[in-house]
Amino acid sequence: MKNLNVNTRILLAITINGLITLILILIILFYKNKQEKLMTTLMQEQFKNEMITLLNLKQETYKEVVYDYTYWDEFVVNVKNGDEEWYQSNISSIIGSFHANYVCVYDTSFNILYEDGSSDFRSRNFIASEVLMALKEKKFVDCFLALPEGTIALNGASIHPTSDPTHTKTQPVGYLFVARLWGDTFIDKLSHISGANIQILPPNGSIIETYPNYITVIHPLRSWNGYPVSQLLFSKESRTISVFRQMSLVIFITLMLSIIITWLLLYFITKHWVRKPLKLVSELLITEKPELIPELLRAPGEFKLIGNLFKLLFKQNRDLQEAKEKAEENEKLKTTFLANMAHEIRTPMNGILGFSELLKNRNLSKQKQEEFLNIIEDSGNKLLYIINNLIDISKIEAGQMKVNTVKTNINEIIDYIYYFFGPETEKYKMQLICSKGLADNQAIVDTDHDKVNAVLINLVNNAIKYSQRGTITFGYQKKNGFIEFFVKDEGQGIEKNMQESIFERFIQVEKSIFKANEGSGLGLTISKSYVEMLGGKIWVESEPGKGSQFFFSIPCQS
Ligand code: ADP
Repeated sequence: MKNLNVNTRILLAITINGLITLILILIILFYKNKQEKLMTTLMQEQFKNEMITLLNLKQETYKEVVYDYTYWDEFVVNVKNGDEEWYQSNISSIIGSFHANYVCVYDTSFNILYEDGSSDFRSRNFIASEVLMALKEKKFVDCFLALPEGTIALNGASIHPTSDPTHTKTQPVGYLFVARLWGDTFIDKLSHISGANIQILPPNGSIIETYPNYITVIHPLRSWNGYPVSQLLFSKESRTISVFRQMSLVIFITLMLSIIITWLLLYFITKHWVRKPLKLVSELLITEKPELIPELLRAPGEFKLIGNLFKLLFKQNRDLQEAKEKAEENEKLKTTFLANMAHEIRTPMNGILGFSELLKNRNLSKQKQEEFLNIIEDSGNKLLYIINNLIDISKIEAGQMKVNTVKTNINEIIDYIYYFFGPETEKYKMQLICSKGLADNQAIVDTDHDKVNAVLINLVNNAIKYSQRGTITFGYQKKNGFIEFFVKDEGQGIEKNMQESIFERFIQVEKSIFKANEGSGLGLTISKSYVEMLGGKIWVESEPGKGSQFFFSIPCQS
């Protein structure tokens, strides 16, 4: 259980929930069956009572007939005289009047005096002496007999004078029996009256087939001594039971369907709302594939939030990675920078110290002394340039570099640079051309004179340093409220992929063909910072082998 994942746990919970509901339904079903059985028993009892009452009613007619005929002076006389005609007109008439099938009269010695039957009833003299004995004692007999024609209901009574209606005060003079055949016609009639299906079964017969929704009752028809002669089977369709069963079935099917539908619904809901997004979350955690995030963002509820968190996390990881790479790169650059710096400082220092040592020689010609002093001055300037660069970059990084805006004549700056670099370009036999976009009186701009000057010096210095041949053109022109400066050379050019990074700290294009002229890698970084401080931007357009053109703009508020 501990190792099960959430998906399986949810599925298990849904299934257990379904099983519990199923058990509840089965309990309900069990009690429903119990209730149905109780209801059927009650209905059977009620039905049995109804049927027995009906049978008793039917029997009552014949009981009354035998009772009415057997306290009658005329009958007493005729039992003694044995007048056939009287029997025919008074006793045989019972058959016609009461739909009986057989009548007979016995004397007290159990000799049959008269008997008659309906046309479809052939049996004669079938009453056993035990029945006659019983009648002698009890005065009335009410039982059933099995005959070839079928089961008959037999009613008998002892015959007494009119003055003895209770049949107890006088001795019987004979016995009268009336029999009714319970054949198909009678049973059909009974069925019709009762509204139930009635069948006569043999005494030991049992119900072979019962129909659903039918209530059945078996009633034994007993002989004079209590033994069953045959059985009556009553059956009737019960609307109540059928409605109850139908209702139970509908409820059961509805409940089962509801379990299945609920299970499927929960299955699909949890699949789409919980299991699928959860799977995505685990996949994201394992594979860290950002392409999975959009799918998670489409998931409902809190998963959208988790998706956003992943997005943030992945971004942070990316940023961290980038920052780490940058830090490593910076570290590498710093090391290179330090090595460079050491070299850059040591070279002019060696120059200064070496030539100072040579100057101590008193035999040196005046010309040599001047030459050595020039070298020492040049080396000192280079050293100063490097140290200034270092001071500037530290000030920029510390946020201490201020902008000092003054009215600046940019034509003067151009002229200054032109004259400043004249000797240098001459040295390399290069041509230096300057171009001024405005007349002297219009070339006055509110800006930081020193910074514009420093940027231009750096760009022209680089142009000479990285060309050492061809022409260098520099100048400016006014464009859309900006002064756009340019410095163009015909030197080595810069590879496309380096054109942006050269403005970053310590970056120098590797494999420079002018190794000897390598600097600190800070010039363009300082220039960029200066231009941005002045509210402008700096960029380069270059084609390797053909030359470069650096541009920078400053706002012009003249
Ligand atoms: P450095 O002291 O190395 O000159 P910079 O920041 O001034 O530092 O320049 C950065 C790098 O950009 C240089 O090392 C060089 O490779 C390249 N670069 C600058 N200007 C030019 C140019 N005019 N032509 C070709 N390469 C240049």
